[in-house]
Amino acid sequence: MKRSVSIFGATGSVGLSTLDLIRQHRSDYRVVALTANGNAAAIAQLAREFDAELAVVADETAYADLKDALAGTGIEAAAGAEALVEAARRDVDWTMASIVGCAGLPSTMAAIEAGKTVALANKEALVSAGALMMAAVRRSGAALLPVDSEHNAIFQCLSGGKIDQVRKITLTASGGPFRSFSLEEMRGVTPAQAVAHPNWDMGAKISIDSATMMNKGLELIEAYHLFPVGLDKIDILVHPQSVIHSMVEYVDCSTLAQLGSPDMRIPIASALAWPERIATSCKPLDLANIGQLTFEQPDIARFPALRLARAAISEGGAKPAIMNAANEVAVAAFLNGQIGFLDIAALVEDALCGYAPNNLPTCIDDLFSIDAAARVYAQALIQKVTECQWNRQISS
Ligand code: NDP
Repeated sequence: MKRSVSIFGATGSVGLSTLDLIRQHRSDYRVVALTANGNAAAIAQLAREFDAELAVVADETAYADLKDALAGTGIEAAAGAEALVEAARRDVDWTMASIVGCAGLPSTMAAIEAGKTVALANKEALVSAGALMMAAVRRSGAALLPVDSEHNAIFQCLSGGKIDQVRKITLTASGGPFRSFSLEEMRGVTPAQAVAHPNWDMGAKISIDSATMMNKGLELIEAYHLFPVGLDKIDILVHPQSVIHSMVEYVDCSTLAQLGSPDMRIPIASALAWPERIATSCKPLDLANIGQLTFEQPDIARFPALRLARAAISEGGAKPAIMNAANEVAVAAFLNGQIGFLDIAALVEDALCGYAPNNLPTCIDDLFSIDAAARVYAQALIQKVTECQWNRQISS
């Protein structure tokens, strides 16, 4: 029997890696739905190649192009937020949640609420809606398979182990492209420098998150929800080679680690075939060639995002959602050239300190309201930063 799969965010880095694996195992998988934001031409081409049943664009203005590109193929075309949620509820064996940002939350939640097997790359959704999403997993009986390489590594190290016998979980971090930069050097980095990750080839947003180390902060919160050992048992360790993807230490002081080349197709393959394994064309690990694996403590002074994320999840309530929303807005502003690299974490901190919603989130709709309001707040902060820059330019 072919396993039926749907991929949300199919035109992105994780989506395309997933499709690359399916391309190598065509006789084992059948594609049901593929989605994109506005990239109608790319999603139509993928839907044709994989003979999908349905292609969806989130952006309704891209619908006409999608429909034209699929004319005569028999592949259904749809558009808009509700169409994404409807696609997530379709009968399917396996769903890849790889939309970037909190925009992925409605479809990810819809798949979870329908009790599906969900491979989760879309970390921002879990960071924002953590407790609500995990409650939905328990209620519906959905299987949540972590795709982030670190969480996939922990998931693999935990298989056969007992969570209450874990002494410590260590999330490894490459440290990003500016691991050894001074604060002064970081101040002047450009978007082009920040998206160029030394080890991983990823989408723009996660590449910037890796450079600020907010990615590791988001992953800390992700790990807190996925692996309930308590926040004080989750550590972060910088490991520049990105060979050890994470580690689990048990109470007997045995430490299990998962290793592999830095290629997202490896953790994706593990989730795609779970609980089995499939062959990949990835580069096997060659430790003799790598020679040395090194480790260092993260520097919280230069990478304050780590401190902000730990504080946000310690405080709980709306804080992780505010942090995530402000970060998404700040990263977009940095990529647009509106703010500097160091402004990203500063802006997230200002939003965390300055914006306080009236109520704690008790349902997903509350969360959407908090997310939207935090974005407005963060945009206003960006406006202030850009006005200051403008005034400085005029007076100099
Ligand atoms: P990309 O930017 O490469 O791709 C994002 C995908 O989401 C695209 O298909 C894009 O469509 C779609 N999308 C963007 N905005 C929206 C929206 N508003 N509504 C619906 N769809 C949208 O991202 P990545 O693949 O790098 O990352 C995806 C997720 O996986 C992120 O949460 C990231 O943190 C996580 N992740 C990524 C890793 C990686 O190696 N890339 C590793 C681990 C986790 P379109 O093409 O039309 O814009």
